[in-house]
Amino acid sequence: MSRSSEPHAPATRGTANHPDDVWVFDVDGTLIGSIRCDTLRPGADELLRTLHAAGSTVVVWSAGGATYAERMLAQFDLVRFVGAFYDKDARGPDGRYVVDHLRPEHRPGTLVDDYPHEVPDQARVIGVRQFLGGNPADHGLREALELARALTLSSR
Ligand SMILES: [Mg+2]
Repeated sequence: MSRSSEPHAPATRGTANHPDDVWVFDVDGTLIGSIRCDTLRPGADELLRTLHAAGSTVVVWSAGGATYAERMLAQFDLVRFVGAFYDKDARGPDGRYVVDHLRPEHRPGTLVDDYPHEVPDQARVIGVRQFLGGNPADHGLREALELARALTLSSR
């Protein structure tokens, strides 16, 4: 039996950053509307701004590609809070997206996603209800916002 044919252990294991230090965000349905992509989710601006101010690294990735992700956030002048953009592309044998292509300093940490079962579970995962773009009273980012505000209050 050939050892080389055995699947490799996920490269994500053991390389995760502290949950407070690196936050990786999905775009569609998480930060912007999945139907109305020109609509920013309520709280998204404050969330990215607060994390950035607290010294956390904000990373944004999308199945639409890194360029798409940057273009979407540029609509709302949010690129200045983001440390890096990445494709959300390959999946591992467990069906979850892999983060091997992220630089070590950009690996989660914390993942915020409206499809939480599709992101690596080695990190802290904050699942959010899918934001379609039409509800100005949406509060799907509340949990993430509370965690981010707590970071600001703590002396890091
Ligand atoms: Mg999504």
